[in-house]
Amino acid sequence: MSNRGSVENNIERDLIALFGEEAVKLGLEKLPYLHDSTEMQGLSGRADAVVLPEALDQICQLVAWCYSRGVPIIPRGGGTGFAGGAVPIDGGVVCSLERLNRILDFSPEFWRMQVEAGVTTGRVQRVARENGLYYPPDPGAAELSQIGGNLACNAGGPHSFKYGTTASWVTGIQMVIRAGDVVTFGGPVRKDVAGYDLRSLFIGSEGTLGIITGAWLRLIPAPEASHTVIAGYRDFRSGVAGLGRVLAYGLTPATLEYFDEGCVGATRRAFPGGLSDDVNFLVLSETDGSAGEADRISDQLMDALKQDAVFLSRTHDPRATAALTRWRSGVSFAVSAQRGGKMSEDIVVPFDKLAAAIQMLGDLEAQFHLPSCSWGHAGDGNLHATFMVDAASPEEITRAELATEALFARALEMHGSVSGEHGLGWVKRSQFHRQFGPAEASLLTGIKLLFDPDNIFNPGKKVILPHE
Ligand SMILES: Cc1cc2nc3c(=O)[nH]c(=O)nc-3n(C[C@H](O)[C@H](O)[C@H](O)COP(=O)(O)OP(=O)(O)OC[C@H]3O[C@@H](n4cnc5c(N)ncnc54)[C@H](O)[C@@H]3O)c2cc1C
Repeated sequence: MSNRGSVENNIERDLIALFGEEAVKLGLEKLPYLHDSTEMQGLSGRADAVVLPEALDQICQLVAWCYSRGVPIIPRGGGTGFAGGAVPIDGGVVCSLERLNRILDFSPEFWRMQVEAGVTTGRVQRVARENGLYYPPDPGAAELSQIGGNLACNAGGPHSFKYGTTASWVTGIQMVIRAGDVVTFGGPVRKDVAGYDLRSLFIGSEGTLGIITGAWLRLIPAPEASHTVIAGYRDFRSGVAGLGRVLAYGLTPATLEYFDEGCVGATRRAFPGGLSDDVNFLVLSETDGSAGEADRISDQLMDALKQDAVFLSRTHDPRATAALTRWRSGVSFAVSAQRGGKMSEDIVVPFDKLAAAIQMLGDLEAQFHLPSCSWGHAGDGNLHATFMVDAASPEEITRAELATEALFARALEMHGSVSGEHGLGWVKRSQFHRQFGPAEASLLTGIKLLFDPDNIFNPGKKVILPHE
């Protein structure tokens, strides 16, 4: 049976007239476009229309149409975001970029690729790899997330420890801004200081300044080899001390991840080969480079991590590595399964505060009587700080919200940030004034209003305007 319903309002009617039937979703077809990865927290919106433009000029027309009528426009990539940024909270037009999915230029000999915004992250990674190149940004939902969404969130991932976040790999950006104008900053050049650095301003703007329609990406020759090193410890203090030695020795593994006691407890049985009961903290790290380099850094890593380790091992066997990757990918789901739900926040702290942040989560667990755990990109000080909740208990969810507020406050006391990767979007908009003082907030809202005086692009997300 078709999910296609009938036209429900004048906005849908006008947009069909402009772009054709195939570009406008109707009825139940709209449902997948009303939420993102925050759906498990119950967040869902409503849209007056869902439009899938297939060319740049259609996006220009759509933006001009929305701007002239004061209709909000919500840019949408793969819908994998964790901040509710792509959710149409209170109507408006969802602009999904999935049909803008062409690789416009690929020059392997010059290590670069020009893509439209709707190309998935996984496709960029694959095309690069098939040609001996490497695109390092690796947010976890790569088969669904899009380059436009990655730029909009400045997505990170495990490899950002060595290689930086998405911004480090973008040499140019094309956007459609108010009135439907196309603007380009940067391009296939590796350097460009001619103007203000608006490329960096647009990266991480979460759909609030315009619609990203394309990007020039920088690639590098693929590393020849990679090794994985894993260490298990009795407690987090020994593990974090090991992580500290990795930095102090000046080592540059590609990834440096940790998993705390609650997290290890939730996944112990799924760990490849099993884990003994005395292991309560894990460090997982990948080294890469030439065969000699990957090997040498692994040796040094083992040396840095060995003190107080209950076990320490390394592998470059593809099957063993794949098994570890599968386990790593399942961590978030296993944690959710503990009590049926979780409230997880991507706080970031300076590396020297990592142990204090892990301890702080334990303190909040005791204070709010909620089981907690954390794991994450240790090298970046980026924690997935999580309270495990009974999703069917409103009282518990309220308690978890209070605990999360305390978590944010303490992350800031440590000179950290309320978000290292996912952005403020909708779900963390209440943290805007906690994160920024009046002077910073005023600059940020001023920039929003300069680009979007009528507050049409993704209203209510990321920045809080004076009247909101
Ligand atoms: C299993 C899993 C693992 C994840 N792991 C990571 C991780 O390791 N690191 C990390 O950083 N994130 C991670 N994420 C979060 C998410 O994948 C990233 O934030 C990703 O960059 C979102 O891309 P998307 O295309 O799905 O964007 P969406 O969710 O569709 O949108 C996200 C935001 O970007 C805006 N946007 C999207 N496309 C455009 C565009 N073309 N122009 C303007 N604005 C746009 C939206 O309005 C919204 O505000 C993970 C998510 C999942 C589900």
